[in-house]
Amino acid sequence: MKNNVKILNTPNDKINLLNLNPQDLYFFLDSLGEKKFSVKQIMNWIYKHYCNDFNKMLNLSIKTRKKLNEKSYIFASEFLEEKISSDGTIKWITEINDQKIETVYIPEKKRSTLCISSQIGCALKCDFCATGKQGFNRNLKVSEIIAQIWQANKKLKQKNIKNCITNIVFMGMGEPLLNLNNVVSALKIILDEYGFALSKRRITVSTSGIVPALDKMKNMIDVSLAISLHASNDAIRNTIMPINKKYNIKSILNSALKYLKHSKANRGGITIEYVMLKGVNDSNKNANELSFLLHKIPSKINLIPLNPFLGSSFLSSDINRINIFADILRRKGFTTVIRKNRGEDINAACGQLTGNITNRFKN
Ligand code: SAH
Ligand code: SF4
Repeated sequence: MKNNVKILNTPNDKINLLNLNPQDLYFFLDSLGEKKFSVKQIMNWIYKHYCNDFNKMLNLSIKTRKKLNEKSYIFASEFLEEKISSDGTIKWITEINDQKIETVYIPEKKRSTLCISSQIGCALKCDFCATGKQGFNRNLKVSEIIAQIWQANKKLKQKNIKNCITNIVFMGMGEPLLNLNNVVSALKIILDEYGFALSKRRITVSTSGIVPALDKMKNMIDVSLAISLHASNDAIRNTIMPINKKYNIKSILNSALKYLKHSKANRGGITIEYVMLKGVNDSNKNANELSFLLHKIPSKINLIPLNPFLGSSFLSSDINRINIFADILRRKGFTTVIRKNRGEDINAACGQLTGNITNRFKN
């Protein structure tokens, strides 16, 4: 049980059970001499009843509860602040050792999506992204990723919003594939029937394309994949996403195709995200180039109007240009959606997340 040996490095160290995926929990209980079925019972308490007190887990024996209290605890970092947008979007801030991360709840007619963070900041410095401009602090632990869902569910319950989170997207702060092991463990908890029990088609990992990690991920977990492409050729992508100099468009799309072939969650195709930057990547030529790039990749295209933030040197393409761009792609046979910006008035939209509630402005 390598993981737990690492976590339990001194006899007095206690384990936060929110750091353990179902298999880790099984090994942990095994190390305490406990039975396999306790995994289901304990996960049920944690993820269905939001219980963080072993003494309340009455279907566990007193002996088991005592052992669990001695060796472990359950802790989900609480939300520090909440902001509600006029469109119903809610943004929550969690403070972790003086650093702030953001979680965004986006209700729609037929579904409600929770957008969660995987890192504090991001090292990849995409030019159009507020998180990237902020720099990188550290990876989130499994428990810190899971806590966002745990606390969001609790908050929504308090507000009497039932069965509220139908979809989860890793589109908050950070690059999930640069925190692969923790993200995969969190995904296992999200998918597990005794965890949050969401279907793999309703969980999306968005990545700027970290090829070795994506190649690895296909053997670790099956969820919906979104690729932040944002350019129709390497020359443009190099200028707006520095990571492209390491992993170019061709290598990313090859890797995405391999993931797709391995995956049941992506049967309808992967999502290609394309942020519309005025005069940079939004010409008819770019649309034709994009359709050529994707002609062998089953995919649906999400066009994202740029969300401005203070210090950004880009403007969003105007809506006419976006519509013309979308029409070209549709005529080539691609399902193309223009993403609605949600929560802009509280800076909760894509690329506006910096963990700071007050320092951002709208153009
Ligand atoms: N790091 C991952 C996931 C987080 S970003 C990734 O890049 O995919 C989530 C999405 O928001 C990505 O598609 C990202 O490119 C997009 N995004 C970033 N900044 C944006 C901005 N200012 N306006 C609109 N979308 C933005
Ligand atoms: Fe990081 Fe994604 Fe922002 Fe790029 S777009 S800086 S990868 S969070």
